[in-house]
Amino acid sequence: MALIVQKYGGSSVADADSIKRVAKRIAEAKRAGDDVVVVVSAMGDTTDELIDLAQQITPLPPQREMDILLTAGERISMSLLAMAISNLGVEAQSFTGQQAGVITDSVHGKARIIDVTPSRIQQAVDAGAVAIVAGFQGVTQHTNDVTTLGRGGSDTTAVALAAALQADVCEIYTDVDGVFTADPRIVPSARKIDRITYDEMLEMAASGAKVLVLRCVEYARRYGVPVHVRSSFSTHPGTLVTDAATEEGAPMEQPIIAGVAHDRSEAKITIVDVPDVPGKAARIFEVVAGSGVNLDMIVQNVSVASTGRTDISFTLPATDGAAATAALTRHQPDIGFTSLQYDDTIGKLSLIGAGMKSHPGVSARLFAALSDAGINIEMISTSEIRISVVTRADQLDDAVRAVHTAFDLDSADEQAVVYGGTGR
Ligand code: ASP
Ligand code: MG
Repeated sequence: MALIVQKYGGSSVADADSIKRVAKRIAEAKRAGDDVVVVVSAMGDTTDELIDLAQQITPLPPQREMDILLTAGERISMSLLAMAISNLGVEAQSFTGQQAGVITDSVHGKARIIDVTPSRIQQAVDAGAVAIVAGFQGVTQHTNDVTTLGRGGSDTTAVALAAALQADVCEIYTDVDGVFTADPRIVPSARKIDRITYDEMLEMAASGAKVLVLRCVEYARRYGVPVHVRSSFSTHPGTLVTDAATEEGAPMEQPIIAGVAHDRSEAKITIVDVPDVPGKAARIFEVVAGSGVNLDMIVQNVSVASTGRTDISFTLPATDGAAATAALTRHQPDIGFTSLQYDDTIGKLSLIGAGMKSHPGVSARLFAALSDAGINIEMISTSEIRISVVTRADQLDDAVRAVHTAFDLDSADEQAVVYGGTGR
């Protein structure tokens, strides 16, 4: 008998029929003899709708109230799902994040889990019930305020609960059959990946692959939680995210390239005409960090020796654009730059693969593919197992398809299936 944590995303519980369908799946797993703990997201686009609703009340809702509002979405789906399971003759009880013992820091809107004490969940499981937990939410340690974990945070709830309960596996049910070599919405010939390492999955998630959120993968790697990403609409085996070593201890076969990720959510800031003297970059990025912004790629142009000045560009989440721009503009006099350009029509493509460490020629092949497709590269950054480039946003889809083909990732037979979701 195993303990399985299953997480169902919004598109898997989008309406009453979907909830009943998922309930059947859960009841089957329970009847097969396993203990089951379920984490749910809000139904369909509920979270977005709640955000829209708040925007109609005020453009700047207090973050504490925003968090309470958004956690209502998961409470609706958890209770309905518990009812649907009970209807099938299997006992089920739903719990909020707070009841499940999900303790977070106090950063509203993107709180981090600092502890999970799931004694109430364990009790329910020991009593033979399926426990349903509202994803994406927790409670602060000292003030008991309700927090949310950031968009897509139910994945993180599931992995954190799996770690705390020492579950055998955390199954993440979504609207595609697993992790693909590219987003099947853009590349229909993308292939499902059977196994991927935590490191590769981290880079994929950090580079915009939406199938798992970054923090969930970080958590899974830290606690060694095996994650099985699969579809709630089919019974196909999905993708196992795990260590590089197999259970038998043999190293996992590492293909050169795991996949191509893309990200449309970033913007680029160029600071024009910065004095080319020590300390200026430090000052700029202190200011950016001080505004709470996480930046990504940084490029400093060759300085024009005769003028002693240089341009510095960096990318950041477009949602942080206003904060970073305001902070830099405030410090324009002491940094001493001439102007600042903001561009949110960029796209980022990333090629990821543990095997690229030991295989020369990967970047050359990537750049050749982009050049053959007539796509200009604006910025480049690399890690040991990733190469990322910035392109124009409207060329990103073409870029992803060209690179996917250039690395022979296209599947000859099956076309990837996207079962649900609005992609919102
Ligand atoms: N409902 C939340 C969101 O859409 C959390 C989740 O789906 O994981 O971001
Ligand atoms: Mg959602």
